[in-house]
Amino acid sequence: MKTALVLGAGGFIGNHLVNRLKSDGYFVRGVDLKHPEFSKSKADDFEIGDLKNPDFANNVIRENENEIFQLAAEMGGAGYIFTGNNDSTLMHNSSLINLNVLAASVRKKAKTIFFSSSACVYPEFNQIDPQNPNCSEESVYPAFPDSEYGWEKLYAERLYMTYAKNHGLNVKIARFHNIYGPEGTWTGGREKAPAALCRKIAEVSDGGEIKIWGDGLQTRSCLYIDDCLNGVLALMKSDFSGPVNIGSEEMISISDFAKLIMKIAGKNISISNIPGPTGVRGRNSDNRLMKKTTGWEPLFSLEQGVEKTYSWIENQVHLSGKILY
Ligand code: NAD
Repeated sequence: MKTALVLGAGGFIGNHLVNRLKSDGYFVRGVDLKHPEFSKSKADDFEIGDLKNPDFANNVIRENENEIFQLAAEMGGAGYIFTGNNDSTLMHNSSLINLNVLAASVRKKAKTIFFSSSACVYPEFNQIDPQNPNCSEESVYPAFPDSEYGWEKLYAERLYMTYAKNHGLNVKIARFHNIYGPEGTWTGGREKAPAALCRKIAEVSDGGEIKIWGDGLQTRSCLYIDDCLNGVLALMKSDFSGPVNIGSEEMISISDFAKLIMKIAGKNISISNIPGPTGVRGRNSDNRLMKKTTGWEPLFSLEQGVEKTYSWIENQVHLSGKILY
Protein backbone atom coordinates (compact mmCIF):
# COMPACT_ATOMS: atom_id res chain seq x y z
CA MET A 1 0.00 0.00 0.00
CA LYS A 2 1.24 3.51 -0.84
CA THR A 3 1.87 5.65 2.23
CA ALA A 4 1.99 9.42 2.67
CA LEU A 5 2.69 11.82 5.51
CA VAL A 6 0.91 15.18 5.23
CA LEU A 7 2.38 17.96 7.40
CA GLY A 8 -0.14 20.77 7.82
CA ALA A 9 -3.01 18.27 7.40
CA GLY A 10 -5.31 20.40 9.54
CA GLY A 11 -5.08 23.31 7.09
CA PHE A 12 -7.04 24.11 3.95
CA ILE A 13 -4.85 22.47 1.29
CA GLY A 14 -3.56 19.75 3.64
CA ASN A 15 -7.05 18.54 4.51
CA HIS A 16 -8.11 18.42 0.86
CA LEU A 17 -4.86 16.60 0.03
CA VAL A 18 -5.54 13.96 2.70
CA ASN A 19 -9.00 13.36 1.18
CA ARG A 20 -7.51 13.06 -2.28
CA LEU A 21 -4.73 10.66 -1.21
CA LYS A 22 -7.28 8.52 0.64
CA SER A 23 -9.47 8.27 -2.46
CA ASP A 24 -6.33 7.33 -4.43
CA GLY A 25 -5.82 4.37 -2.05
CA TYR A 26 -3.03 5.70 0.18
CA PHE A 27 -2.50 5.00 3.87
CA VAL A 28 -2.24 8.60 5.12
CA ARG A 29 -0.82 10.06 8.30
CA GLY A 30 -1.59 13.69 9.09
CA VAL A 31 0.17 16.13 11.41
CA ASP A 32 -0.82 19.62 12.51
CA LEU A 33 -1.20 21.94 15.49
CA LYS A 34 -4.95 21.49 15.07
CA HIS A 35 -7.62 19.35 13.46
CA PRO A 36 -9.29 20.62 10.27
CA GLU A 37 -11.82 23.32 11.09
CA PHE A 38 -14.74 22.39 8.86
CA SER A 39 -14.74 18.59 8.48
CA LYS A 40 -13.27 15.55 10.17
CA SER A 41 -9.92 14.45 8.74
CA LYS A 42 -10.01 11.20 6.76
CA ALA A 43 -6.37 10.51 7.67
CA ASP A 44 -5.75 6.99 9.02
CA ASP A 45 -3.73 8.56 11.80
CA PHE A 46 -3.64 12.21 12.90
CA GLU A 47 -1.06 13.55 15.31
CA ILE A 48 -1.44 16.91 16.99
CA GLY A 49 1.90 18.57 17.66
CA ASP A 50 4.26 21.43 16.91
CA LEU A 51 6.79 20.99 14.11
CA LYS A 52 8.83 23.87 15.59
CA ASN A 53 9.82 21.30 18.18
CA PRO A 54 12.69 19.22 16.69
CA ASP A 55 11.88 16.17 18.84
CA PHE A 56 8.28 16.16 17.67
CA ALA A 57 9.38 16.50 14.02
CA ASN A 58 11.86 13.68 14.51
CA ASN A 59 9.27 11.37 16.09
CA VAL A 60 6.51 12.05 13.64
CA ILE A 61 8.66 11.29 10.57
CA ARG A 62 9.14 7.53 10.57
CA GLU A 63 11.97 5.40 9.16
CA ASN A 64 12.02 5.25 5.33
CA GLU A 65 9.03 7.55 4.95
CA ASN A 66 8.00 7.21 1.32
CA GLU A 67 6.21 10.47 0.44
CA ILE A 68 6.11 13.55 2.66
CA PHE A 69 3.97 16.57 1.77
CA GLN A 70 5.21 19.62 3.71
CA LEU A 71 2.41 22.21 3.84
CA ALA A 72 2.77 23.42 7.44
CA ALA A 73 3.54 27.16 7.61
CA GLU A 74 2.52 30.43 9.13
CA MET A 75 0.03 31.48 6.55
CA GLY A 76 -2.55 34.13 5.78
CA GLY A 77 -3.96 36.54 3.26
CA ALA A 78 -2.93 40.17 2.68
CA GLY A 79 -4.33 41.24 6.07
CA TYR A 80 -1.87 38.90 7.79
CA ILE A 81 1.13 38.90 5.46
CA PHE A 82 1.37 42.46 4.16
CA THR A 83 0.77 44.57 7.27
CA GLY A 84 4.27 43.85 8.65
CA ASN A 85 2.84 43.12 12.10
CA ASN A 86 3.46 39.37 11.88
CA ASP A 87 6.81 39.33 10.06
CA SER A 88 9.06 37.97 12.82
CA THR A 89 6.52 35.26 13.67
CA LEU A 90 6.25 34.28 10.00
CA MET A 91 10.00 34.14 9.45
CA HIS A 92 10.81 32.41 12.72
CA ASN A 93 8.08 29.79 12.78
CA SER A 94 8.09 28.70 9.16
CA SER A 95 11.91 28.57 9.09
CA LEU A 96 11.99 26.36 12.18
CA ILE A 97 9.37 24.02 10.73
CA ASN A 98 11.33 23.58 7.51
CA LEU A 99 14.70 23.15 9.26
CA ASN A 100 13.29 20.51 11.62
CA VAL A 101 11.39 18.64 8.91
CA LEU A 102 14.44 18.43 6.65
CA ALA A 103 16.82 17.30 9.40
CA ALA A 104 14.38 14.60 10.49
CA SER A 105 13.73 13.53 6.87
CA VAL A 106 17.43 12.89 6.33
CA ARG A 107 17.84 11.15 9.69
CA LYS A 108 14.91 8.85 8.88
CA LYS A 109 16.03 8.25 5.28
CA ALA A 110 12.85 9.68 3.78
CA LYS A 111 12.55 9.26 0.02
CA THR A 112 10.53 12.10 -1.52
CA ILE A 113 9.43 15.38 0.03
CA PHE A 114 7.10 17.95 -1.50
CA PHE A 115 7.48 21.58 -0.37
CA SER A 116 4.75 24.19 -0.91
CA SER A 117 6.38 27.45 -1.90
CA SER A 118 4.47 30.49 -3.11
CA ALA A 119 4.07 33.02 -5.92
CA CYS A 120 5.09 35.54 -3.24
CA VAL A 121 8.74 34.66 -4.05
CA TYR A 122 8.59 36.67 -7.30
CA PRO A 123 10.21 40.11 -7.36
CA GLU A 124 8.00 43.11 -6.92
CA PHE A 125 9.65 44.97 -9.83
CA ASN A 126 8.25 42.41 -12.33
CA GLN A 127 4.71 42.83 -11.01
CA ILE A 128 4.18 46.58 -11.27
CA ASP A 129 2.14 46.66 -14.48
CA PRO A 130 -1.17 44.97 -13.49
CA GLN A 131 -1.82 43.88 -17.09
CA ASN A 132 1.61 42.41 -17.69
CA PRO A 133 3.19 40.72 -14.66
CA ASN A 134 6.10 38.33 -15.17
CA CYS A 135 6.05 35.22 -12.98
CA SER A 136 8.07 32.80 -15.09
CA GLU A 137 10.14 30.57 -12.83
CA GLU A 138 13.56 31.94 -13.78
CA SER A 139 12.43 35.56 -13.19
CA VAL A 140 12.66 34.92 -9.43
CA TYR A 141 16.32 36.13 -9.50
CA PRO A 142 17.56 38.74 -8.84
CA ALA A 143 15.32 38.34 -5.82
CA PHE A 144 13.10 41.05 -4.40
CA PRO A 145 9.90 39.58 -2.92
CA ASP A 146 7.53 42.21 -1.52
CA SER A 147 6.92 40.40 1.80
CA GLU A 148 8.89 38.56 4.47
CA TYR A 149 6.55 35.63 3.82
CA GLY A 150 7.95 35.57 0.26
CA TRP A 151 11.54 35.85 1.47
CA GLU A 152 11.07 32.93 3.86
CA LYS A 153 9.60 30.81 1.05
CA LEU A 154 12.54 31.67 -1.21
CA TYR A 155 15.04 30.85 1.52
CA ALA A 156 13.18 27.59 2.20
CA GLU A 157 13.26 26.63 -1.50
CA ARG A 158 17.04 27.02 -1.37
CA LEU A 159 17.19 25.08 1.88
CA TYR A 160 15.25 22.17 0.34
CA MET A 161 17.51 22.23 -2.72
CA THR A 162 20.63 22.02 -0.54
CA TYR A 163 19.19 18.91 1.12
CA ALA A 164 18.59 17.42 -2.32
CA LYS A 165 22.17 18.23 -3.34
CA ASN A 166 24.01 17.24 -0.15
CA HIS A 167 21.80 14.43 1.21
CA GLY A 168 20.20 12.84 -1.85
CA LEU A 169 16.67 13.70 -0.72
CA ASN A 170 14.19 13.65 -3.63
CA VAL A 171 12.77 17.18 -3.32
CA LYS A 172 9.77 18.57 -5.23
CA ILE A 173 8.94 22.26 -5.03
CA ALA A 174 5.81 24.03 -6.31
CA ARG A 175 5.02 27.73 -6.14
CA PHE A 176 1.29 27.93 -5.44
CA HIS A 177 -0.64 30.93 -6.81
CA ASN A 178 -3.69 31.82 -4.71
CA ILE A 179 -5.40 28.48 -4.08
CA TYR A 180 -9.08 28.68 -3.14
CA GLY A 181 -12.11 26.48 -2.63
CA PRO A 182 -14.62 25.26 -0.05
CA GLU A 183 -13.35 24.72 3.50
CA GLY A 184 -10.71 27.44 3.24
CA THR A 185 -10.27 30.15 5.85
CA TRP A 186 -13.04 32.68 5.11
CA THR A 187 -12.97 35.02 8.10
CA GLY A 188 -10.83 36.00 11.10
CA GLY A 189 -8.03 37.98 9.40
CA ARG A 190 -6.08 35.16 7.69
CA GLU A 191 -8.48 34.69 4.76
CA LYS A 192 -7.20 35.35 1.25
CA ALA A 193 -8.81 37.58 -1.40
CA PRO A 194 -11.17 35.03 -3.07
CA ALA A 195 -12.68 33.98 0.28
CA ALA A 196 -12.75 37.55 1.63
CA LEU A 197 -14.63 38.79 -1.46
CA CYS A 198 -17.12 35.89 -1.29
CA ARG A 199 -17.72 36.59 2.41
CA LYS A 200 -18.23 40.33 1.93
CA ILE A 201 -20.74 39.73 -0.86
CA ALA A 202 -22.54 37.00 1.11
CA GLU A 203 -22.86 39.30 4.13
CA VAL A 204 -24.72 42.15 2.40
CA SER A 205 -28.09 42.27 0.67
CA ASP A 206 -28.80 43.07 -2.98
CA GLY A 207 -28.21 46.81 -3.51
CA GLY A 208 -25.72 47.05 -0.62
CA GLU A 209 -22.06 48.07 -0.59
CA ILE A 210 -18.75 46.30 0.09
CA LYS A 211 -15.33 47.74 0.83
CA ILE A 212 -12.31 46.59 -1.19
CA TRP A 213 -8.67 47.29 -0.32
CA GLY A 214 -6.90 49.34 -3.02
CA ASP A 215 -8.32 50.73 -6.27
CA GLY A 216 -9.51 47.29 -7.46
CA LEU A 217 -7.34 47.48 -10.59
CA GLN A 218 -4.74 45.17 -9.06
CA THR A 219 -4.80 41.78 -10.84
CA ARG A 220 -4.52 38.20 -9.64
CA SER A 221 -5.17 34.66 -10.81
CA CYS A 222 -6.65 32.03 -8.52
CA LEU A 223 -6.52 28.25 -8.77
CA TYR A 224 -9.30 25.93 -7.65
CA ILE A 225 -8.21 23.43 -4.99
CA ASP A 226 -8.88 20.27 -7.08
CA ASP A 227 -6.64 21.62 -9.85
CA CYS A 228 -3.94 22.38 -7.27
CA LEU A 229 -4.02 18.79 -5.98
CA ASN A 230 -3.86 17.39 -9.52
CA GLY A 231 -0.78 19.56 -10.04
CA VAL A 232 0.93 18.44 -6.83
CA LEU A 233 0.38 14.77 -7.63
CA ALA A 234 1.49 15.24 -11.25
CA LEU A 235 4.73 16.82 -10.00
CA MET A 236 5.27 13.99 -7.51
CA LYS A 237 4.89 11.40 -10.30
CA SER A 238 7.15 13.24 -12.75
CA ASP A 239 10.94 13.21 -12.98
CA PHE A 240 10.94 16.98 -12.56
CA SER A 241 11.80 18.59 -9.22
CA GLY A 242 10.82 22.24 -9.69
CA PRO A 243 10.56 24.90 -8.41
CA VAL A 244 7.56 25.24 -10.69
CA ASN A 245 4.39 27.32 -10.76
CA ILE A 246 1.07 25.70 -9.90
CA GLY A 247 -1.52 28.35 -10.62
CA SER A 248 -4.11 29.61 -13.04
CA GLU A 249 -3.40 31.82 -16.05
CA GLU A 250 -6.93 33.32 -15.93
CA MET A 251 -5.89 36.77 -14.66
CA ILE A 252 -8.60 39.14 -13.44
CA SER A 253 -8.71 42.53 -11.71
CA ILE A 254 -10.01 42.49 -8.15
CA SER A 255 -12.97 44.71 -9.20
CA ASP A 256 -13.93 42.30 -11.99
CA PHE A 257 -13.46 39.40 -9.60
CA ALA A 258 -15.94 41.03 -7.21
CA LYS A 259 -18.38 41.54 -10.11
CA LEU A 260 -18.06 37.87 -11.09
CA ILE A 261 -18.95 36.83 -7.54
CA MET A 262 -21.90 39.28 -7.52
CA LYS A 263 -23.16 37.64 -10.73
CA ILE A 264 -22.89 34.19 -9.12
CA ALA A 265 -24.62 35.49 -5.98
CA GLY A 266 -27.36 37.18 -8.02
CA LYS A 267 -26.72 40.50 -6.25
CA ASN A 268 -26.01 43.99 -7.49
CA ILE A 269 -23.61 45.57 -5.01
CA SER A 270 -21.56 48.76 -5.16
CA ILE A 271 -17.84 48.81 -4.38
CA SER A 272 -16.17 51.34 -2.11
CA ASN A 273 -12.36 51.37 -2.55
CA ILE A 274 -10.47 51.99 0.67
CA PRO A 275 -6.75 52.00 1.58
CA GLY A 276 -5.44 48.64 2.78
CA PRO A 277 -2.68 46.06 2.30
CA THR A 278 -2.86 44.89 -1.32
CA GLY A 279 0.47 43.25 -2.19
CA VAL A 280 1.90 43.53 -5.69
CA ARG A 281 0.01 45.41 -8.44
CA GLY A 282 -0.33 42.45 -10.77
CA ARG A 283 0.24 38.70 -10.60
CA ASN A 284 -0.53 35.82 -12.92
CA SER A 285 0.74 32.27 -13.06
CA ASP A 286 2.92 31.20 -15.95
CA ASN A 287 2.23 27.48 -16.40
CA ARG A 288 4.45 26.79 -19.41
CA LEU A 289 7.13 24.90 -17.45
CA MET A 290 4.61 22.86 -15.46
CA LYS A 291 2.73 21.90 -18.62
CA LYS A 292 5.93 20.97 -20.44
CA THR A 293 7.35 18.85 -17.62
CA THR A 294 4.19 17.15 -16.28
CA GLY A 295 1.43 17.73 -18.83
CA TRP A 296 -0.73 19.31 -16.09
CA GLU A 297 -3.21 22.08 -16.83
CA PRO A 298 -6.09 23.46 -14.73
CA LEU A 299 -9.51 21.97 -15.51
CA PHE A 300 -11.77 24.45 -13.68
CA SER A 301 -12.49 27.97 -14.94
CA LEU A 302 -12.55 30.74 -12.35
CA GLU A 303 -16.32 30.93 -12.65
CA GLN A 304 -16.76 27.19 -12.05
CA GLY A 305 -14.47 27.25 -9.00
CA VAL A 306 -16.05 30.37 -7.54
CA GLU A 307 -19.55 28.93 -7.91
CA LYS A 308 -18.57 26.05 -5.63
CA THR A 309 -16.67 28.28 -3.22
CA TYR A 310 -19.30 31.02 -2.98
CA SER A 311 -22.08 28.61 -2.12
CA TRP A 312 -19.94 27.07 0.64
CA ILE A 313 -18.99 30.49 2.09
CA GLU A 314 -22.56 31.77 1.82
CA ASN A 315 -23.63 28.78 3.88
CA GLN A 316 -20.90 29.49 6.48
CA VAL A 317 -22.04 33.11 6.71
CA HIS A 318 -25.61 31.96 7.35
CA LEU A 319 -24.52 29.40 9.94
CA SER A 320 -22.43 32.01 11.76
CA GLY A 321 -25.29 34.53 11.84
CA LYS A 322 -22.97 37.17 10.31
CA ILE A 323 -25.48 38.36 7.72
CA LEU A 324 -25.63 42.15 7.81
CA TYR A 325 -29.19 42.45 6.49
P1 NAD B 1 -3.33 26.81 6.15
O1 NAD B 1 -2.97 27.90 7.08
O2 NAD B 1 -4.77 26.48 6.01
O3 NAD B 1 -2.52 25.49 6.50
C1 NAD B 1 -1.26 25.51 7.13
C2 NAD B 1 -1.34 24.56 8.30
O4 NAD B 1 -0.04 24.51 8.92
C3 NAD B 1 -2.33 25.02 9.38
O5 NAD B 1 -3.31 24.05 9.60
C4 NAD B 1 -1.45 25.23 10.60
O6 NAD B 1 -2.07 24.88 11.83
C5 NAD B 1 -0.26 24.31 10.29
N1 NAD B 1 0.90 24.70 11.08
C6 NAD B 1 1.39 25.96 11.25
N2 NAD B 1 2.43 25.94 12.11
C7 NAD B 1 2.59 24.64 12.49
C8 NAD B 1 3.48 24.00 13.37
N3 NAD B 1 4.40 24.70 14.04
N4 NAD B 1 3.37 22.66 13.54
C9 NAD B 1 2.42 21.95 12.87
N5 NAD B 1 1.53 22.51 12.02
C10 NAD B 1 1.62 23.85 11.83
O7 NAD B 1 -2.72 27.21 4.72
P2 NAD B 1 -2.96 26.56 3.29
O8 NAD B 1 -3.67 27.57 2.47
O9 NAD B 1 -3.53 25.19 3.41
O10 NAD B 1 -1.46 26.50 2.75
C11 NAD B 1 -0.68 25.32 2.82
C12 NAD B 1 0.72 25.62 2.34
O11 NAD B 1 0.69 26.15 1.01
C13 NAD B 1 1.45 26.67 3.19
O12 NAD B 1 2.81 26.31 3.28
C14 NAD B 1 1.30 27.93 2.40
O13 NAD B 1 2.34 28.84 2.67
C15 NAD B 1 1.37 27.39 0.98
N6 NAD B 1 0.71 28.29 0.02
C16 NAD B 1 -0.65 28.42 0.04
C17 NAD B 1 -1.27 29.27 -0.86
C18 NAD B 1 -2.76 29.45 -0.88
O14 NAD B 1 -3.24 30.18 -1.72
N7 NAD B 1 -3.54 28.82 0.00
C19 NAD B 1 -0.50 30.00 -1.78
C20 NAD B 1 0.90 29.86 -1.76
C21 NAD B 1 1.48 28.97 -0.87
